[in-house]
Amino acid sequence: MKIAILGPPGSGKGTHTFRIAEKYDLKHIVVGDAVKQEIRKGTELGKIMFEYTNQGKFVPVEIVMQLLKEQVEDLRGYNGFIIDTAPINMEQYYAMKNITLDVVISLNINNFDVVRERILKRLICPNCKHVTSIDEAPDRICGNCGSQLEKRYDDNIETINIRINRYKNETVPVLENYRNQGILIDINAENSKEVVFEEICTKLDDFFQKKSLN
Ligand SMILES: [Zn+2]
Repeated sequence: MKIAILGPPGSGKGTHTFRIAEKYDLKHIVVGDAVKQEIRKGTELGKIMFEYTNQGKFVPVEIVMQLLKEQVEDLRGYNGFIIDTAPINMEQYYAMKNITLDVVISLNINNFDVVRERILKRLICPNCKHVTSIDEAPDRICGNCGSQLEKRYDDNIETINIRINRYKNETVPVLENYRNQGILIDINAENSKEVVFEEICTKLDDFFQKKSLN
């Protein structure tokens, strides 16, 4: 299973990617984390990327995609991979052309007030990365590991609106390309976590069943 998942901020990407990876035994690839990890390991690619980040520059898309390609080719016992949040724009889309995807999951939001509210209530565990909300954890203690939960530094209304607009202008055209290729799965991400996850699993199972019959 070669999967990518896209959606606006607050659509539940992190939560669902984690659960999909666990259920289908997939390697969970978060592009930003992979970059940081490579730099920490000090590999050849890591050293090149460090030069950019050290100067406060973005790592060029070709280098990020080279890293992504290495990641998807090294699956060691996994049943496939799921890429969290790439390609997010047409530049990344073209750069990712040499990575074959079976299916792209689109977490759709129509009413963006839903995600604004979700993000403003969002809490994250700095220790185990568990994502929850002030509604679910009013004591601000992580249910997984007992650490003090935190807000993400960029979870404020100004940056949320910037991120939503970037998604509409830059990511939606990418989705249209995958739709035209017939590999896009649309999910209504305004529903509750449980309903959303069920819809994802049903549609993924259907998709791969039909694929195996062809
Ligand atoms: Zn935790």
